[in-house]
Amino acid sequence: MARYTGPVCRLCRRERMKLFLKGDRCFKEKCAIERRAYPPGQHGQRRSRRPSGYGPQLREKQKVKRIYGVFEKQFRNYFATAAGKRGVTGDNLLISLDRRLDNVVYSLVFA
Ligand code: SF4
Repeated sequence: MARYTGPVCRLCRRERMKLFLKGDRCFKEKCAIERRAYPPGQHGQRRSRRPSGYGPQLREKQKVKRIYGVFEKQFRNYFATAAGKRGVTGDNLLISLDRRLDNVVYSLVFA
């Protein structure tokens, strides 16, 4: 199973909100959002452009992917499965993401 092993605070900074990806550090003043609340990178402090209609949708999708630690391909597969089930697709998607073994282990604070 592939997973993201790079710096995670920059993911929070990109989304401009705390995603709580680093345990205790997220609740302290060392949190990168507390210290540098702007997107990462060379142009992070530039004035942001007006978001297009697609922009907010993309940001929400990226947030879910990052919170649950899945990559695009896996996420697409989960979405396809959720869309094929009865009921609200968004709810089905979140349920299947919540049932992943790594997220269950994380939620129960086993690791
Ligand atoms: Fe995100 Fe702050 Fe936690 Fe880093 S410390 S993962 S910026 S919430």
